[in-house]
Formats: sequence, C-alpha cells, structure tokens
Amino acid sequence: MHAVNRRIAGLSCLALAMVAPVMARAQSTADEEAKRRAANIAAYPDAARSLFGQKTAPASLEARAIGSYARGCLAGATALPVDGPSWQVMRLNRNRNWGHPVLIDYLEKLARDVPRINGWPGLLVGDISQPRGGPMLTGHASHQIGLDADLWLTPMPRQRLTAQERENMPAVNMARADWRDVDPRHWTPAHTRLIRAAASDPRVERIFVNPALKVALCRESGSDRGWLGKVRPIWGHNYHFHVRMSCPAGMEGCDGQEPPSSGDGCGEELSGWVERQHKAIFSPPKPSGKPARPKPPMSLDALPAECRQVLLAR
Ligand SMILES: [Zn+2]
Repeated sequence: MHAVNRRIAGLSCLALAMVAPVMARAQSTADEEAKRRAANIAAYPDAARSLFGQKTAPASLEARAIGSYARGCLAGATALPVDGPSWQVMRLNRNRNWGHPVLIDYLEKLARDVPRINGWPGLLVGDISQPRGGPMLTGHASHQIGLDADLWLTPMPRQRLTAQERENMPAVNMARADWRDVDPRHWTPAHTRLIRAAASDPRVERIFVNPALKVALCRESGSDRGWLGKVRPIWGHNYHFHVRMSCPAGMEGCDGQEPPSSGDGCGEELSGWVERQHKAIFSPPKPSGKPARPKPPMSLDALPAECRQVLLAR
C-alpha cells in the first residue's frame, strides 16, 4: 500500500470524510462505482441526481449552460472525443466526457498545446459533465452545467490505454505526507507550467487545487504571478486539478461566480487553508453524539425550471 494511503487508513472518520471522498473518486473502480450508483438510485429514484444520472445522451437543444455550477443542467452538450492527438479520457464507464462547446474547445486546445507547454505527451482527462449535466449519482457537487472539468496531475502515457486501464489506473497523490506542501517524488516544474497555462486562458474563471499544491505554485511562479489569483485552494484536488470556465458571454440563465478577489492568494489566506487542512487530517475534533442524518439529495424542483425541458428533450 502507498505510504500516504497507509497513513490515511489510520485517520479518524471526520478527517476521512474530508479527504476520503476525493481519494475514493480518483481510485474507485468501475464495479464500486456501479454499486454506489445503483444504491443511490434505489434510495431516491426521483431525486434530480437519479433522473440526470440515468440519461445516456445529450438533449438536442441549442447549447446552454443553465443555472450555476452546483445547481443546474446542460443543454446541447458536446462530447470530448475519448482519444485525441494528445489526450485520453479516463473512467469511460462514467460517461462524463460531456461539456458546453466552450469548455470542450478549451480542453482540446490546452491538450494540443501540452507537449509544448511542459513536455508531457498529453493530458489524462477525468470527469467533465453528464450528457445533460445536472447533479451526479456519485462524486462532485459541481460539474452540473458543462463548464467544469477535472484534469489528472499524472502525465498521459505515450501508449493508448485500454478501456480496463482507464477504469482502474490509480491517480497519484501529489501532497506530501504532512499535507503542507507537495510530494517532491511526484511534483515537478512541469506541473506548475501546466497549471499556469491552464489558468492563463481568459475564459477560465477559477482553478481548484489542494492547498498543498498552491503552496508549491506560489513558490515556483517567480515574478509572473497574475494567474495565481485564479488558482483557489480547496479540499481534495490532490490527484487532479479542476478547471472552471466563466459563463460564455451573453448566455442568459448561466449564473457564474464573481471573479476571485485581486492578489495572488499566497499569503495568510493560503496559510489558513494549510493549517485548517492539517488540523482536520491529523487532529480532528472528537465526534460528539450521533452523526447527523445526511440531507436528502436535491429534487428536480431545486434546479432552474428549464432543466425539466432538458430532461424531457429528445
Ligand atoms: Zn472537479
């Protein structure tokens, strides 16, 4: 077992609850995924995640990101081809390689540039959105409107991976054992070059990485720091980074976020994240009383009304 996994195995539930979902998401195999999907459909068959999670094809409507990143849906989605000249889509069984055309265009362009950006043969692409967006049966609160994508922090190998390898190949944890910085056995200057290039496209609103990774980015970015403000620390995101596009200009009903506050975000804000994460993992508060019952999943009524049409469209 990997040293970090061994350490994680000894953690208390609360810390695991914060770290484990991301690890599980990155590493779970198709069988485990199928079991969790089936259980979630059985528990709440009418929940929005069950309805959207069982759609296997896009809604043939004009392309539109409807609602907000964590409460919305996607009309007229495009698929990122599972193989490109310098990308390969992972976990094909999930059927989450769908996005708004703006995002798919961005991903193809970034992937094509990767050999020039950092010398990697290409990108391994993780989850984008479901064919009609919406909430998912497993993983992710966001990724609902086709403007979010996860990119692996592992370089694409030169050979084409088999379908089985794409389901089961584990991703690499980039955080050091103390979660205060990156693991120098895995992190390289190529990672910084890739994330800088990914953030520098003006269509990108935010990029999410683990606080430990942002520590390295802040240290390694030298005097060119304009892009760092878009790179936001967040739990998880130690196996992949998450790219979020702005709502395409003039798209009615697409509810984006304010741009991040100015500055590179490398000072106190980041050290606060690092310390909170360290505490949550290594000295979590003792659980008191019964664990709270999980909230029922989002209903279709909680989404913008147009998402009903997206669900019903042919
Ligand atoms: Zn993501």
